[in-house]
Amino acid sequence: MKTALVLGGGGFIGHAMVKRLKKEGYWVRAVDLKQPEFSETEADEFIQGDLREVDFVRRVIQYKGEQGNFYNEVPYKYILPFNEIYQFAADMGGAGFVFTGENDADIMHNSVTINLNVLEEQRKLNETYDGEKKDWTECNRPKLDYQTKIFYSGSACMYPEHNQLDPNNPDCREESAYPANPDSEYGWEKLFSERLYLAYNRNHGIPVRIARYHNIFGPEGTWYGGREKAPAAICRKVAYADTDGGTIDVWGDGLQTRSFLYIDECIEATRRLMECTNGFNGPVNIGSEEMVTIDQLVDTAAKVANKTINKNHIDGPLGVRGRNSNNDLVREKLGWDYTITLEEGIKNTYNWIMSQIAKEMYPLAQTVESDKDISGKKYLAYGNCHK
Ligand code: NAD
Repeated sequence: MKTALVLGGGGFIGHAMVKRLKKEGYWVRAVDLKQPEFSETEADEFIQGDLREVDFVRRVIQYKGEQGNFYNEVPYKYILPFNEIYQFAADMGGAGFVFTGENDADIMHNSVTINLNVLEEQRKLNETYDGEKKDWTECNRPKLDYQTKIFYSGSACMYPEHNQLDPNNPDCREESAYPANPDSEYGWEKLFSERLYLAYNRNHGIPVRIARYHNIFGPEGTWYGGREKAPAAICRKVAYADTDGGTIDVWGDGLQTRSFLYIDECIEATRRLMECTNGFNGPVNIGSEEMVTIDQLVDTAAKVANKTINKNHIDGPLGVRGRNSNNDLVREKLGWDYTITLEEGIKNTYNWIMSQIAKEMYPLAQTVESDKDISGKKYLAYGNCHK
């Protein structure tokens, strides 16, 4: 049986990856600061802890058998490396978290510390197996017939701002990354960390796979609280708006462009990258090429909700002027492309957000009352709309 470690397994993409790996028959350990918010984990073992702590990471990457015995002591010789590690853990959120500047130090420090810990501890564990490094204390274990493959979830936010000024023609080809000029510290950290994974691959032989995700969305994504991304935030705003002629706040002039990839497609492409045997390890874009303006995103959500929605454009953190995935490389190397339309994805996301609202505010959600009527509820207290 194959084994996988999903770091950030309590988050949006990590939780979905755990489900996928379990369907494929893997034994899975998931690790996160928190449990998944909206449904139970399907991992064989879910460990809550902080991946910034090096001792915790050292123990987390050790597989001790199918019984799920993270907390038990076993003789060192029985400890094995995982077959695969999926590294999704990061301090991140949507524009309201990443582009205000208020969280820059945390974003850089926390995420980079996690990546340094994971790679360095994996290197040390590997060296107890390869039979060459004699100075490591717990050597002398037989050479394994596999090496842990590590997937790293990079981001399109690492692309240079100067290539994304024209909303109609953003350039996000993989080779356009340099000279580097990301527009946020989040993007700089992502760029640094993808280089870190490549360096450990070159110098220590750790097999890595690196994706640059473009705006992943879908059910079970954060939809309120300040870290939500545009699709979920807009679905939420539309859900709470009056059915006929309701008005929602939209950050900026609404003409900034983006593409959005549905979660199931993200997981499929990531698995293909992980399974790829033609020597390709990325970095590669995983995204949709269906570019829309933010106003069009609002119109799509309004159409799905069957509402007439007016837009009130206000100041807000925005990010680059235009961004779209370029899938030439992923098509060529992985034979993968997006297939789910934005409208289909938004429909599923909108319906899921409606179900969440119904769960917490059942009587009110039945009639989709006006914002005024629900202004005391917790999502609005934190959220970035309907102040
Ligand atoms: P998410 O915030 O839902 O998941 C990240 C998880 O990491 C969270 O559950 C969080 O608790 C956990 N985490 C953070 N710090 C931790 C720590 N110190 N110890 C243990 N766990 C910790 O985000 P997501 O949308 O699932 O994104 C997953 C990865 O994909 C991230 O690295 C993100 O940067 C990258 N990415 C996501 C998108 C997107 O649109 N969702 C786009 C580009 C890149």
